Order: sequence, then C-alpha cells, then structure tokens
Amino acid sequence: MSRENDIKLIKKNGFKSFKPDRHSFIDENGQRWLQCKFCCEYQKVDEGTGYITCGSCVVKIDLIEYPNTIKKQKVSTGRPAGWHFMNEFVDKDGNVFHKGKEQPDLKGTLPPTKVKPRKKKKKLSADEKLHKDIKNWKKRLKAKRGKK
Ligand SMILES: [Zn+2]
Repeated sequence: MSRENDIKLIKKNGFKSFKPDRHSFIDENGQRWLQCKFCCEYQKVDEGTGYITCGSCVVKIDLIEYPNTIKKQKVSTGRPAGWHFMNEFVDKDGNVFHKGKEQPDLKGTLPPTKVKPRKKKKKLSADEKLHKDIKNWKKRLKAKRGKK
C-alpha cells in the first residue's frame, strides 16, 4: 500500500482501522521482532517493548499532523550533496554512513562530518584576477626552485 493511501485511510478511519492483532517473535539470533501498531510491519525491538511504531508510520503521522514541516525538513537534510558517495559520512544525529549505507553499530561513536558550505563563486575584478595570476605564477616559480 502506498503512503498516500495509508494516509487517506488513517484520516478517514483513524489509526484504529489498522490491524489490531500484533504479534512478536524471536528469531534464531535471539532478536525480538514486533509488529508496528499501525501497519504491522515487523521491526526489531528491545526486550520489554510493548508496542512500536515503525519509521514509515512515524513519518505518516508527522505528515498528517504537521504536513508543512516535513516538506521543509526534506529540503534540508543537513547532508551535503554527494554524501552517499563519501567513504564515511556522519550526520548531525550521529548516524554513520559508509558510501551512503547506514552503519547502525557505529551510531554515536563518531563526530558529525563537518559540512562545508558551498563556495560561492565570486566574479573577480580585473585587478583581482591579475593579483591571482601573479600569486599563482610566484607559487609555480617557488615550486620550480624547490625541485632543483
Ligand atoms: Zn508501521
């Protein structure tokens, strides 16, 4: 079912229309799974959790209650362009990603990656351009001398 359909259903009937039967089971690794109370997707849970709301339902609820804030959040994730190509990226919440893949085990163990603000390209005036050229030329000269 699509999120839009879910939201329509929730708006029409309330969350109660979602299947009330919730089951939990423990897999072969001893991990307990519980169904989301709204959509019944199985989610990993810690011992003692009575009911859960899965991530996608949290988003749905947010979309219903705060339809405008989500949109704004989507625009600014705080992640730089191309973050999922980075070998390692830590977002502001401490989520660690290796090449865009979340590493839950490493969450909170690393400082957030500093996002450099995008450099604004400034148009150089003729004077500044000349100045830059001279600077570069001097640099090259220096490098040349250093090699000898
Ligand atoms: Zn759910």
